[in-house]
Amino acid sequence: MLKDRVAIVTGSSGGIGRVVAQQLARRGAKVVLLSRASDRLAAALAEVRAFSPASEAFAADVSVPSEVAEAVNKTMAQFGQIDILVNNAGITKDGLIMRMKEEDWQQVMEVNLTSIFRLTQLVLRPMVKARYGRIIQISSVVGSTGNAGQANYVAAKAGLEGFAKTVALEVASRNITVNCVAPGFIRSAMTDQLNSKTREAILARIPLGVAGEPEDVAHAVAFLASAEARYITGQTIHVNGGMYMR
Ligand code: NAP
Repeated sequence: MLKDRVAIVTGSSGGIGRVVAQQLARRGAKVVLLSRASDRLAAALAEVRAFSPASEAFAADVSVPSEVAEAVNKTMAQFGQIDILVNNAGITKDGLIMRMKEEDWQQVMEVNLTSIFRLTQLVLRPMVKARYGRIIQISSVVGSTGNAGQANYVAAKAGLEGFAKTVALEVASRNITVNCVAPGFIRSAMTDQLNSKTREAILARIPLGVAGEPEDVAHAVAFLASAEARYITGQTIHVNGGMYMR
């Protein structure tokens, strides 16, 4: 149960983040949804409020420091606490390294990695004061395996896992845990972009034989956010149907 907990979920208008927000709300948390302004964000908030009516949405681009700071300030003003942060917002700008544009490298780093540094730093202040916190980063199986055509994305995901372990060490004495969930091939807008040949090649590498659902990731996040996970920190839970073993 996450009653009396306040959670921020970034990228909560998208496939995985939207369901993560719902699962935390179902367990009783008040959830603050954070993505760039869109109809999808409003729709996601309406769904989450069905489970947790006090939930809220703040539009912010996680790669813009002032917008992120404003969202955190508004959360503190409205709720007075931040107990859980799920850093889920992410983008891809794929290309082979020989042709990758610096701009595509920078954008992926800003959204998928640097934003996590900023947001984590901001929420740690109230968490340290409260002597309680759960920070969960959404990584990817490719952060461990590598993936041709995704040097920027893979570098960001591997980077956030190292970041999580280091922050976990720094804040463990304050009863704050920092962990990652690394999805494999999950049905979402991100993976819907893939052509059928690529999709079939990926499915052939998954021992369980099917793509994962956003719920599969969300349940792992909800566990790490729960009281039951109090003795787990600096870890990555892989949710990939066995893909990592191939
Ligand atoms: P998605 O459906 O494309 O959702 C991405 C979310 O991130 C959206 O809510 C999007 O909202 C938000 N976002 C993107 N740029 C943003 C920005 N600058 N500021 C604020 N929000 C931003 O992707 P998904 O599949 O759910 O992915 C969620 C996470 O899981 C990502 O970190 C991804 O790397 C990871 N992941 C996914 C898979 C998979 O198979 N789907 C596998 C491994 C890891 P707006 O565009 O409206 O702002």
